[in-house]
Amino acid sequence: MKIAVIGTGYVGLVAGACFAESGNDVICIDNNAGKVRVLQKGGVPIYEPGLEELVRRNRHEGRLTFSTALAKAVRESAVIFIAVGTPQDEDGSADLKHVLRVARDIGRSMNGYKVIVDKSTVPVGTAVKVRETVGRETTQPFSVVSNPEFLKQGAAIEDFMKPDRVVIGVEDPRAAELMLELYAPFTRTGAPIMVMDCASAELTKYVDHVRKAIGSDKRIGPSFLFPGIGYGGSCFPKDVQAMIRFASDTNYDFKILQSVEAVNLRQKTRLFAKVKRHFGRLKGKTVAVWGLAFKPKTDDMREAPAIPLIEALLAAGARVQAYDPEAVTVARGIFGKRITYSPSNYDALKGADALAIVTEWNEFRRPDFARMRSLMRSPVIFDGRNLFTPEQMTQNGFTYYSIGRR
Ligand code: NAD
Repeated sequence: MKIAVIGTGYVGLVAGACFAESGNDVICIDNNAGKVRVLQKGGVPIYEPGLEELVRRNRHEGRLTFSTALAKAVRESAVIFIAVGTPQDEDGSADLKHVLRVARDIGRSMNGYKVIVDKSTVPVGTAVKVRETVGRETTQPFSVVSNPEFLKQGAAIEDFMKPDRVVIGVEDPRAAELMLELYAPFTRTGAPIMVMDCASAELTKYVDHVRKAIGSDKRIGPSFLFPGIGYGGSCFPKDVQAMIRFASDTNYDFKILQSVEAVNLRQKTRLFAKVKRHFGRLKGKTVAVWGLAFKPKTDDMREAPAIPLIEALLAAGARVQAYDPEAVTVARGIFGKRITYSPSNYDALKGADALAIVTEWNEFRRPDFARMRSLMRSPVIFDGRNLFTPEQMTQNGFTYYSIGRR
């Protein structure tokens, strides 16, 4: 099948590479020419386990190409995925400007029947807007499909290749058949492909997020229940806000979700409050920060708890020496020269008055405590991810603060 994926970010690039891996001819489109240049030369601009290898193999075998030329890609493809960002608008709702701009551009380039698939996370009713936007530009026949994505960064390839289920919202049987064919290779192990109307598919994406957030009951699943300094990333924060906004538009006061949002924002300030309480004045202090990405195994820093923490430390006059295995390039774009980037987690500790642990990378879990103590000016740890037990840290001679524990 000939497929175009518009938007070559975490979702678009992973989807494009995985569809190519299952034998389709995929062209990935992005309007960021720099990103496309990197991909055309064989580079991968984001970090995601297994992605580089997958892109290299499929590029080499000619099934995966990259371009900025949307119109040509649309003309040559039977199925066109929209995988551009849906960032938060000022009022918290999902901003659809990228999705609708792409829909318009697709409409202008049509030369025959196309299946236009929305993979971006969008509020209920977006498929109708996409249909109207495309329809204003063309008299060619087309179907609109809603196919929300559930992958998580850090395990994106695995999630895409072996999904728990695939959700497909359709308006007509022709598009449904095509989507079933496309997803058949990924659901051989028995994962269901759930075909429904577009509005139900759009809502399923948000409700699934909420289900994870309330997984405090073993019968629902405890895997996400770790105390810490807040969730981040490009999806969960904005999707929760979009859901609150969507509820308020229908005059429903969604108190539980409002609390989720408020508590998460509060969690992000907790580590700094502990640092401040311990030291009083922070001017002239040096704080090592382990972890910048919003979670391990990604270089993504969107909404990362590291950002408000580091900004607060800098505003209070502290110096920051940070280490992250993958996110340093992204961090340079945010903090520039305002902080120091250390080549290893131990280097970050040199002369530090304290260590703040922000991201639970595996390599931070069993460090050499004696070496840490010898490098630091004072052995104080603020652990935002509860990697260690208070007893263990007392034994190792640290003053230790963690989240929700004495
Ligand atoms: P991203 O920001 O990493 O990538 C979006 C890409 O689209 C960028 O490369 C951007 O340059 C490109 N783009 C924007 N406008 C364009 C246009 N007019 N033409 C061509 N390209 C354009 O975003 P992402 O993380 O891949 O997320 C994409 C969507 O998928 C969002 O709606 C998000 O909520 C959803 N989603 C994300 C994840 C995740 O884990 N990141 C998981 C599931 C769903």
